Amino acid sequence: MTRTSDLLIVGAGVVGLAHAVEAVERGLDVTVLERDAHAVGASVRNFGHGCLTAQTGDALELATRGRGTWLRLGAEAGFGVAECGTVVVARSAEERAALEELAATRGDDVELLDPARVVDRVPVARDGLHGGAFLPRDLRVEQRRAAGAIAAWLAARPGAEIHFGCPVHGIAGAGEARAGAGGIGDASGDGPVVVRTGRGEFRAHRVLLCVGHDLDRLVPGLADDAGLRRCVLQMLQVRPHTPLTIGPAVLTGSSMLRYPALSGTAGAAALRERWRTERPELLDAGVNHMLTQLPGGDLVVGDTHHYDRTPEPWTDETLDDLLLAETRALLGTGVDVVRRWRGVYADAPGEFLIRPVAPATSAVAVTSGIGMTTAFGLAPAVLDRVL
Ligand SMILES: Cc1cc2nc3c(=O)[nH]c(=O)nc-3n(C[C@H](O)[C@H](O)[C@H](O)COP(=O)(O)OP(=O)(O)OC[C@H]3O[C@@H](n4cnc5c(N)ncnc54)[C@H](O)[C@@H]3O)c2cc1C
Repeated sequence: MTRTSDLLIVGAGVVGLAHAVEAVERGLDVTVLERDAHAVGASVRNFGHGCLTAQTGDALELATRGRGTWLRLGAEAGFGVAECGTVVVARSAEERAALEELAATRGDDVELLDPARVVDRVPVARDGLHGGAFLPRDLRVEQRRAAGAIAAWLAARPGAEIHFGCPVHGIAGAGEARAGAGGIGDASGDGPVVVRTGRGEFRAHRVLLCVGHDLDRLVPGLADDAGLRRCVLQMLQVRPHTPLTIGPAVLTGSSMLRYPALSGTAGAAALRERWRTERPELLDAGVNHMLTQLPGGDLVVGDTHHYDRTPEPWTDETLDDLLLAETRALLGTGVDVVRRWRGVYADAPGEFLIRPVAPATSAVAVTSGIGMTTAFGLAPAVLDRVL
């Protein structure tokens, strides 16, 4: 039996860790339980793109609120957070028009670029360029190190405990352990919540389930109600034949069809219409062709989107071929594949899911592909609400 924490968080991905950081900084005793030996979920499989400017509404507000925390934690915990911005490349008149519409509403957050200035900022092929935009507020986070570094930073804080290799099976009850009870949803009473794990029971006054797309494994009824699905993305790490230095994240026309600040523009609507006949394969695969550079120089390239509650296990070689062809055309150079992987994130209507699941227990998930961008703004908003 361990202590009774003020707050227990299930899941040490970026969402769980962001809530733990916020809680520790509010002076709470926090316990984090993670089933794996280290985080290997969405939080390490992504682009590390702090994609602020292309968001709207709550997501933009949360992304803006969390930006400073990423920068501070990167410095304190020792992982890279670059204020490198994003370059959005326009290779058609429609794409250029979409960027002009965005620039008209966002002031200094969007700097329009002519083709020569695009090439000055990122080494993309000059052929067919219609210009682009620089989004200076965006960040690039060292995604493969951030979760581990934040976990280590947390573990060194007074009042914080983090347990890896500790799968949570359910919430036994509030006030007393009810071994064998049916799991989350049983809790009743005023005492501490008892969390059942493969390594015994933990107690806390409040519990947050931050388990990403696996929420349906702990609370299937909630997942049903919320319309939770898994979004599966095919991703590649590639090595350009010619070594390249690419500071900013790079987005393309297909990104403009997905990120809300751009997808609602007339330019994006016209692009979608044209691609229905000219590039249906991009639309069918839900491609958001974008890339970021890893510290060693390789590029993280993606992505495709497939949605299902229980996706089939296969990767589709034609989708990787499509991403590779797009990458070679964008950079004007050949690339070799170094690694392939599938990423999965939680998807549901709306971008955020914050729901009570039992007394003193809530589920928190980012239900769109923007958890890296928004988690550190979401955490203070959630704690203001649930504590
Ligand atoms: C390929 C890809 C690219 C993306 N690119 C970006 C991007 O560039 N920018 C951006 O903002 N967002 C991006 N996203 C989205 C972002 O990565 C996610 O929104 C975010 O990482 C979700 O964080 P999380 O902590 O909820 O999930 P996860 O990182 O999946 O963490 C959940 C954790 O919970 C643990 N867990 C689950 N069940 C249990 C249990 N029963 N007991 C204990 N532990 C449990 C898991 O082991 C896991 O470590 C991308 C996502 C993917 C997949």
